[in-house]
Amino acid sequence: MRSTRPLLVVDGLRKLYPIGKQRIWRRGVAPSFLHAVDDVGFTIGRGETVGLVGESGCGKSTIVRLIARLLDVTDGSILFDGAEIGKVSARRFGLAPQRANIQVVFQDAADSLNPRFTAFRAIADPLLRLQRLSGPALRSRVEEVARLTGLPLELLSRFPHQLSGGQKARVGIARAIAVEPQLLILDEPTSALDVSVQVLILRLLQDLKAATRSLVPVCQPRPQCRAASVRPHPRHVSRPYR
Ligand code: ADP
Ligand code: MG
Repeated sequence: MRSTRPLLVVDGLRKLYPIGKQRIWRRGVAPSFLHAVDDVGFTIGRGETVGLVGESGCGKSTIVRLIARLLDVTDGSILFDGAEIGKVSARRFGLAPQRANIQVVFQDAADSLNPRFTAFRAIADPLLRLQRLSGPALRSRVEEVARLTGLPLELLSRFPHQLSGGQKARVGIARAIAVEPQLLILDEPTSALDVSVQVLILRLLQDLKAATRSLVPVCQPRPQCRAASVRPHPRHVSRPYR
């Protein structure tokens, strides 16, 4: 029977970044913190698309990195398919069973790709680590997702600096969908320069939705954008936080 519990339940999520010179308690003086994410909560069902909308700097990318467990949570809970993953440290999450099921297309494709990895290696990496694919099965899956994202196969041997912005964006998307995650988060993907990448993303969103994946497109407020789930809050700095 298909489970009816939500895929993702975020509750009371909070992330404080230490700022300034003083980053730890010293001689009774507390460090300062920037409240990047403050008490955020939302639920995403299976196959549901929920937009994360907010002005630049309101904490969207931080929320994305917290959900994908690339960043340690200051406070709050992240339930993925009923399991509390918010308490698992970002360092240990690489070994968690949920790792393959939460994938992110990062805001800046150029920054998120390892400069020493070819496009092939970049796309193959999660398949190697999370699905232990190798040999012909690995090559065939990498080529399949390259085709799906419109990345010519002859570009697979290139390094990021030998690819255009649009091609790098395609590598980032191919890499994220290769392991068929249950939850795919796209952090401002259409801010890529290339219009063809925007078309690709919209088409992919439709295809993935048909495959009942849960999607979280992240964007800044736009007139055509209707799904708003997180309201921006004013930045403030606290001292101290315990
Ligand atoms: P958005 O994606 O909505 O533009 P971000 O999540 O990138 O917002 O950033 C939210 C706030 O947190 C911003 O004020 C940003 O400057 C700050 N911030 C982001 N990352 C760090 C960090 N590693 N250290 C300190 N402050 C950070
Ligand atoms: Mg951002």
